[in-house]
Amino acid sequence: MVIMKAFKIETPPYGTKLLALFGKPSEARKRLKNEISKKNLKRWDFKGCDGLTIMYGALAVMWVRELPKTPRLKNVLQHELVHVVNDILSYVGVERTGSDEGGAYLTGWITEQIYKKLK
Ligand SMILES: [Zn+2]
Repeated sequence: MVIMKAFKIETPPYGTKLLALFGKPSEARKRLKNEISKKNLKRWDFKGCDGLTIMYGALAVMWVRELPKTPRLKNVLQHELVHVVNDILSYVGVERTGSDEGGAYLTGWITEQIYKKLK
């Protein structure tokens, strides 16, 4: 069983924060209730997902189902971190064109392959 881990990280250069959640969707949802409105909570559809990132004003919320113990799970974390970084940069006005999904997948994939080689 995965124990829920939740913590906030300051991102001083940009005046934003990251709430990082690791664990079961039901536990993540409980923690999210303290942070975001009911309406925004509906945007969290955990089905079929290993990770999710949504920005609320200056707060980036990232959820990852499991702690990053394997190359595959490091891929998931890295993927979400690309979204976190891009969302924070967007928030502070760094222009972005189109979806960042491709970059997130590629970064995650490369991360996973590197950790497999390092094993
Ligand atoms: Zn993604």
